[in-house]
Amino acid sequence: MTEKLNLFIGGSSVKSSTKKWIEVLNPATQEVLCEAPCTTDEEIESAIGSAKEAFFSWRETPPPERSRVMMKYQDLLKINQDEIAQILSKENGKTFEDAKGDVWRGIEVVEQAANITPLLMGETVENVAREIDSYSYTQSLGVCLGITPFNFPAMIPLWMFPMAIACGNTFILKPSEQDPMTSNKLAELFTEAGAPPNLLQVIHGGKDQVDQLIRHPDIRAISFVGSVPVGQYIYKTGTEHLKRVQSFAGAKNHMVVMPDANKNKTIDSLVGSSVGAAGQRCMAISVAVFVGSSKEWIEDLKNEMAMVKPGPWDSEESGFGPVISAQAKEKIIGLIEKGKSEATCLLDGSKCEVEGFPDGNWIGTTLFSGVKTESEIYKTEIFGPVLLCIEVNTLEEAIELINANPYGNGTSIFTASGRSARKFRHEIEVGQVGINVPIPVPLPFFSFTGWKQSFYGDLHAYGKQAVRFYTETKTVTERWFEEDEESTKNLTINLE
Ligand code: NAD
Repeated sequence: MTEKLNLFIGGSSVKSSTKKWIEVLNPATQEVLCEAPCTTDEEIESAIGSAKEAFFSWRETPPPERSRVMMKYQDLLKINQDEIAQILSKENGKTFEDAKGDVWRGIEVVEQAANITPLLMGETVENVAREIDSYSYTQSLGVCLGITPFNFPAMIPLWMFPMAIACGNTFILKPSEQDPMTSNKLAELFTEAGAPPNLLQVIHGGKDQVDQLIRHPDIRAISFVGSVPVGQYIYKTGTEHLKRVQSFAGAKNHMVVMPDANKNKTIDSLVGSSVGAAGQRCMAISVAVFVGSSKEWIEDLKNEMAMVKPGPWDSEESGFGPVISAQAKEKIIGLIEKGKSEATCLLDGSKCEVEGFPDGNWIGTTLFSGVKTESEIYKTEIFGPVLLCIEVNTLEEAIELINANPYGNGTSIFTASGRSARKFRHEIEVGQVGINVPIPVPLPFFSFTGWKQSFYGDLHAYGKQAVRFYTETKTVTERWFEEDEESTKNLTINLE
């Protein structure tokens, strides 16, 4: 019988009483790995209720004590990195090495959560008026919610709950229904690290469960990562229900290739960043903008891309895995077909087969040149191993093209010129910029700072911004009187 995935409520694995289950498939074989529950309304109520109750004692727990739980947790994540990566690879399709990277980039955030105390410090000014002092505290919010996508089943949940919980909150996690098993393992290890029960609850399901969660009066803040339409919906609905929301959405990331760049490094970086993880990264490079004579490298790029092949997660030969679902495959193939009438298809991965895996959601590396910005393949986030090439004459043209794109998640420039690099980083309207670095995902002492249609909200993920997002600031203004001090009425707003 197929395994039924449990919920994680009250610090332990709990069987759902739902009648509705979602099959979780291995994308390389279509084997049913488990069934994830569509959590019932009552179970959601119970999870939020116990998270709310747990909040009142957790917020009184000194930050250094909270940090110690995170220290133990990052240690356990490191010890169990391979096991988590295996679960993740099976349900997501990523290669084992890439899955370990997914876990590692999450561990880095847990390390920051383990060092949270200095980031929680308020500010102090003495004598803001005569003998009056002011200072501020950061205080926790309450029950926070995270809704995560399929493409980073470890890293993205770990962007959210460790920081929120280290800030003194409790957390409800609703992972993607396409690869929910990794989240259960993350939650189990969190309990093993000594986290008191009810700090973290894992709820499974899809739209219905999300709809109940984002409207619930006891949810104070919502962190979402996923596609643009859902991201906009969560932001609008969450804020309409007067919640704090940060919503990270889709992308179309460009790499500018200058003729003075290191050719081999540029081509290798383009291949890795466009087709790694089957192009299913929100920071994947999906458009290469060749400036001037660098377009002569497109032929070599094609040859290098053609050598990278998809395959199963546990084979060292596999450059990347299958795409997440048959529906995703169909959508990508539809876009490749459309692209053939809009641009020149140099490499076509739409008929890809992998020996021994006839049912996998395989797409091979695909390359288009002569792409126009009006075309469907340029305007749509393809989210597959597909790279588009655009040729322009100058760096100014490249910057103008990128700035006209509605997304602003990541971008990079490959060049040997400090002058070109400086101009690019200064003028580009994108939140995360790489200079000779193809996927510039910031480490957790910075924040993940997508712009434009790639992000709705004000405060970004991890780093100092996450601490601001998951806390309230309380400012105190204070004075102490002499026993026999004279008193007059102050009828103005001035501090006297
Ligand atoms: P998705 O929007 O389909 O799903 C994300 C989450 O929302 C899932 O938990 C899902 O259950 C839930 N959901 C789906 N449809 C819903 C609906 N109609 N109402 C309420 N909830 C709903 O995204 P996905 O396909 O899992 O992930 C891929 C997308 O995520 C890509 O667009 C990618 O660019 C984006 N992404 C963005 C970032 C970033 O930091 N900007 C990072 C990773 C992924």
